[in-house]
Amino acid sequence: MIATAPVTQDVLTLPRRLPAAERINLVGMTRAQLAAALVAAGTPEKQARMRTAQLWQWLYQKGVRDFALMTNLAKPYRALLAARFTIDVPQVVRRQVSADGTRKYLLRVAGGHEVETVYIPDADRGTLCVSSQVGCTLTCSFCHTGTQRLVRNLTAAEIVGQIMVARDDLGEWPAPGRVAKDETRLISNIVLMGMGEPLYNFEAVRDAMKIAMDHEGISLSRRRITLSTSGIVPEIARTGTEIGCMLAVSFHATTDEVRDRLVPINRKWNIAALLDALRGYPNLSNSERITFEYVMLDGINDSDEDARRLVRLIAGIPAKINLIPFNEWPGAPYRRSPEARIRSFADIVYKAGYASPIRTPRGEDIMAACGQLKSDSARAPNARRVVP
Ligand code: SAH
Ligand code: SF4
Repeated sequence: MIATAPVTQDVLTLPRRLPAAERINLVGMTRAQLAAALVAAGTPEKQARMRTAQLWQWLYQKGVRDFALMTNLAKPYRALLAARFTIDVPQVVRRQVSADGTRKYLLRVAGGHEVETVYIPDADRGTLCVSSQVGCTLTCSFCHTGTQRLVRNLTAAEIVGQIMVARDDLGEWPAPGRVAKDETRLISNIVLMGMGEPLYNFEAVRDAMKIAMDHEGISLSRRRITLSTSGIVPEIARTGTEIGCMLAVSFHATTDEVRDRLVPINRKWNIAALLDALRGYPNLSNSERITFEYVMLDGINDSDEDARRLVRLIAGIPAKINLIPFNEWPGAPYRRSPEARIRSFADIVYKAGYASPIRTPRGEDIMAACGQLKSDSARAPNARRVVP
């Protein structure tokens, strides 16, 4: 395609086409990084802003991966871009579809590592559950991902790339010029609840979510993006100021003794420290509440007394309590609380004035439910999976 570009003065003065490994991936760059990269490649400074906006629209609104198709750019400029840059997203190595419509993607990223992304369709929304790390440094005792060490952080490109490949699979690149309203989109919500602790990869998560929110990027409202943390207290305030998304916290226990065992980061930042940070989260109101995630573990954290303690602890924080029936995985040391127990717990929380939905496990048949994600690269970092 590029060979057919007319030979103009611009093309003749082009630097040689860089080898693939030296070309720079444009996906995941902030606007400022992209503008600087374009200028370094020879774009006149005065045009950098406009070119950045045009490229973002091609990448994130139209899903185009080939510079030759970017028809509002002059052909010699497209050739220049192709000589210097790439448009790389993670490679889908396996796609599984659950009986309930949940889709799980196994993605390969640089270094041969693998992560998982899950798409959860619901009547009123479609949620994409995005990973932030390969593995996790933390060791929550009920979490499958947590049984493995951290392999590495994902880059911003690999994080926003998860949204892009899911849109490829769902066929959700809108017709030119038409940005669908949030609520009618197949991917209407994003949750950072996949593999990894997003606040231990803050910059990459922030840059990726900025693209997800930008009106020339994926263009989702910040209120449709929820970041879940196990409680990395020093990063909570800037999650609000620098990203501005909704916050969920993996609370899971009402005493430090139990939380120390379930979420060991509690030994560093305990319940009181965590609640202090949550009380300071910007923009909290009845319409912007913190989600408290609470996994229901039989006989561990699921008593009526726990429910009452929970509502006392969070008093004054605009909150909703998301009760997650424990999802089992091979070798898990816990059992799911019985349904009646979960309902009794939910009832106490509800009567205290908090929404207390019980999360329906989704995609259990393909191990896609909360806490079940674990890729082969987390199990054996250098192992290669045979693609079925
Ligand atoms: N690392 C972040 C985000 C990923 S986990 C965090 O911990 O918040 C997403 C949610 O699933 C968390 O609330 C986590 O505690 C919960 N979870 C982990 N393992 C689970 C399991 N086996 N069953 C149910 N929920 C689980
Ligand atoms: Fe990591 Fe979250 Fe799992 Fe804890 S629950 S091990 S922080 S992914």
